[in-house]
Amino acid sequence: MKATDRLQRVRQEVSQAEREAGRNAGSVKLVAVSKTFDAEAIAPVIAAGQRVFGENRVQEAQGKWPALKQQTPDIELHLIGPLQSNKAADAVALFDVIETVDREKIAKALAQEMQKQQRKPKLFVQVNTGLEPQKAGVTPRETVNFVRNCRDTHGLSVAGLMCIPPFDENPGPHFALLEKLALEAGVSELSMGMSADFPTAIAFGATSVRVGSAIFGARG
Ligand SMILES: *Cc1c(COP(=O)(O)O)cnc(C)c1O
Repeated sequence: MKATDRLQRVRQEVSQAEREAGRNAGSVKLVAVSKTFDAEAIAPVIAAGQRVFGENRVQEAQGKWPALKQQTPDIELHLIGPLQSNKAADAVALFDVIETVDREKIAKALAQEMQKQQRKPKLFVQVNTGLEPQKAGVTPRETVNFVRNCRDTHGLSVAGLMCIPPFDENPGPHFALLEKLALEAGVSELSMGMSADFPTAIAFGATSVRVGSAIFGARG
């Protein structure tokens, strides 16, 4: 099946999940995760009307997105992978949304770069809801304080929270936890749900879902 056909199917599934959850049509943003796919594979998906994309590596994104963004200026590019502080300048220059703010050093580096470049990508804090040692993100306990600290110490406005539940667990409780933390932290957006579980995430209040393989096919 072609990526554009799969895109149509995912769009329908997002709409259906919105309906079933009693959410407004169009209230969930679909982030098409294009990591590992080249510009040639991405172009037809842009031509089919998709405007929001996610990448997990700054360097890989730099190799394909500046040209694609020049051709289609209203693209919104999300960074969904870990960010090193020495890449903060590049990330601020290229991305419109950075979903993986998860420590003081990154918050500080982003604040400096945003000031310097006069660019304001939207920011999400990543939460490690499963407390997995290999996974990035603040712990659930730290979340409210970290969001407050981003605002009060670094002058950053945090739009929402993002999580990647443990691969082998029922994701529902993780989505519910993220929603509760967002409420406590006073932020309104929830980035949660991937190819395997985005309808569930929508039922739990996701405002954006990050879908890769269900659109682009299996990654090599
Ligand atoms: C790769 C990735 C996705 C998309 O995963 P699929 O299972 O292919 O939909 C979503 N979020 C993050 C953070 C990712 O790295």
